Amino acid sequence: MTENFKASNRRAVLDFIRTRYPISRSQLSRISGLNKATVSGFVTDFLRQGVVAETGSGVAAAGRKPVLLSFVADSAYVIGLLLNVRSVRMVITDLEGTIVWQTREPLGDEGASSTLDRIAIIIEDGVRRVGIPFSSIVALGIGVPGLVDFQAGVIVQTPNMGLSSVSLKQWLEMRFHIPVFVDNAANVSAVGEKLFGAGRHYEHFVYVSVSTGIGGGVVMNGQLQRGAFGFAGEFGHMVVEPHGLSCRCGGQGCWEMYGSLKALYRQTARHIGEDPAAYRPDILVTVVDAAARGETWAIEGLNYIGFYLGVGVASIVSAFNPHAVLIGNEIAIGAKWIMPIIETVVQTHCSLPIIKDLTLLMLEYDDNKAVVGAAGMGIDGFLDQLTHRKIRRWC
Ligand SMILES: [Zn+2]
Repeated sequence: MTENFKASNRRAVLDFIRTRYPISRSQLSRISGLNKATVSGFVTDFLRQGVVAETGSGVAAAGRKPVLLSFVADSAYVIGLLLNVRSVRMVITDLEGTIVWQTREPLGDEGASSTLDRIAIIIEDGVRRVGIPFSSIVALGIGVPGLVDFQAGVIVQTPNMGLSSVSLKQWLEMRFHIPVFVDNAANVSAVGEKLFGAGRHYEHFVYVSVSTGIGGGVVMNGQLQRGAFGFAGEFGHMVVEPHGLSCRCGGQGCWEMYGSLKALYRQTARHIGEDPAAYRPDILVTVVDAAARGETWAIEGLNYIGFYLGVGVASIVSAFNPHAVLIGNEIAIGAKWIMPIIETVVQTHCSLPIIKDLTLLMLEYDDNKAVVGAAGMGIDGFLDQLTHRKIRRWC
């Protein structure tokens, strides 16, 4: 077995324990397809590292009862951070993403170095208040609205945040001496869905985040796909109208100009006496309320973005042939109105074999999801490093 192959098998076995415990070594051998000696070797490592424990015995038809294994979720903790233009959310979770502490703090616009110092103080303060020793915290995951070079941990571009070109990973690793994983907000949400949410049920899925803009994350073979330069999943800038509206990215006719809440605002603002060139993030609530009262302009507005969301989702389905497309974020407030239109457009524009077993799902809106996803990015990175033997914390 090459070291890489061994490492991915080790991670797969740990994931089977994590998602299906209590489980015996022979069950693990059966579902992983690995022989018992290999599985036992891996399990011995996990027991020593403290992430797995023996917890009683199972039922056997005859002979010795098998020892059952459990995942020890509170053997370590992870910090998740979600940066926004004016605030930062922070959670401390166990290895199953259960929140043990959380806060939301304001973030001023005082330049990159003040913002970094402020983030560091929020982290230190949070860890102190929860009463967990810093040595129990094994990773830090951060979601950033913008383009991120994941490998380098550099924020390439953050419109409106003044953190472009900042080496966030390097800065935080030097300050806190734990592995730091930085990615864009949609990717951390996709990882959150993969580890703790609807994505657990699908090997191949695409997560699409729809709020003021549109972002996404592609999970194939259970792995987040980042593409050649780390920017895969920038669905908001797929072209849906080649001669269409100008976008902040410099392009024309981008998907987020037609399917986002900003597009909904543009289409409906004049009906509520507001300037279509401005924007109000809570527009969806206003429009959904009006649609429920039977207001035609509101229903037409929801139909408009629903149609374009369907057009984009149909392209994504044709490009990736996923088991599922999970649509999340604030758009979920309008699910009742928007989802049937998306389904119809996808059925019209995709060939039958590709949609025969496709699941289209609008996820319930949960404000916590993205920041727990950021913690999930840290957990994923930690488990990867643990099974690749790069972390020797317990050894
Ligand atoms: Zn664009």
